[in-house]
Amino acid sequence: VVMTVKVDKVACTGCGLCVDACPEVFELDDGLAVVKADPVPAKNENTCRDAVNGCPTNAISITK
Ligand code: SF4
Repeated sequence: VVMTVKVDKVACTGCGLCVDACPEVFELDDGLAVVKADPVPAKNENTCRDAVNGCPTNAISITK
């Protein structure tokens, strides 16, 4: 199963917690989180889920 995520740019505050949790998948660009690994590499799925669950504004959704 392949996992992909996306960031809602309206909900994202740019806090950076997702980058801390999973720098392999998220980075900050112009103050907002962007997904740089699509699909999410299998070895990064667990930390990526941590990032999804840890986002204070629930801006990250798992799309697959
Ligand atoms: Fe944006 Fe959520 Fe990442 Fe914070 S944790 S930068 S609000 S996507």
